[in-house]
Amino acid sequence: WRAAGEAAVMVLAVLLGLSYIYRKLNSEMELKLRQRNFIASVTHELKTPIASLRVWMETLFTRELGPDRKARVQQLMDGDLLRLTELVGNLLDVARADAGSLELKPERVELAPWLREVADGMDHRLGTGSLGLNLQLGIDIWADIDPRAMAQVVENLLSNAHKYAPEPRKTTVTLDSDGEMAIISVSDRGNGISPRELPRLFQRFYRVGDEMTRQVAGTGLGLFLSWEIVTLHKGTIKASSPGLGQGATFTVRIPLASR
Ligand code: ADP
Repeated sequence: WRAAGEAAVMVLAVLLGLSYIYRKLNSEMELKLRQRNFIASVTHELKTPIASLRVWMETLFTRELGPDRKARVQQLMDGDLLRLTELVGNLLDVARADAGSLELKPERVELAPWLREVADGMDHRLGTGSLGLNLQLGIDIWADIDPRAMAQVVENLLSNAHKYAPEPRKTTVTLDSDGEMAIISVSDRGNGISPRELPRLFQRFYRVGDEMTRQVAGTGLGLFLSWEIVTLHKGTIKASSPGLGQGATFTVRIPLASR
């Protein structure tokens, strides 16, 4: 019996060891695959606006354009430059996060007007009205935040609500409080997220492998950076979704300012 017991323990130990190695290899392979996809996405994200800028520059220098057409070309060039600036900014922020040098410049901010400005600004950048914004901000609360860094978080959530929800969109932004934390939520009526994917969205480079995501440009860095920024504010960020096809809600909690 004793020998049988020892053999069983050994078999169990070997099995546990094998399953550990299997999981480690699997997660390393998955990370490699994600990194490869990431490099392909970044290359695409860099090349597209650069190619487009070249075309517009040639157009500007080689053709006589009327004032209306010229203004339109300038607007398109601005859009390309914005895309490039955002991507490079995100890449730099990831490098800073890795080096532990993503620093905050906190200020005491009244959240409702700040959030309204960020949401309206993003709606304007994405095409006025295209988010179908519904703002529910009727609460007078303050927090010590880096307004630019936190704006990046909200902008990223709104940009995702735009990317992963078809038209006509309805994007609801709410501000609330539980007495200790400010609660900001961004909900869309888009494709939603399956329960299996929810915990993985905040990992670096992670993109859901569905058709919808594949059709949309992205690097899988936005939510990772949002998580880093919210964590630096001693807050939390969570995703929820009733299921596929039923929209998604992202909820950010950050400490209220102490009086
Ligand atoms: P990116 O949008 O560049 O791919 P993010 O880190 O912002 O990267 O998002 C990670 C992934 O989470 C996305 O690729 C997408 O699959 C999923 N996702 C994010 N926001 C939403 C949303 N509002 N609805 C459905 N899926 C989403």
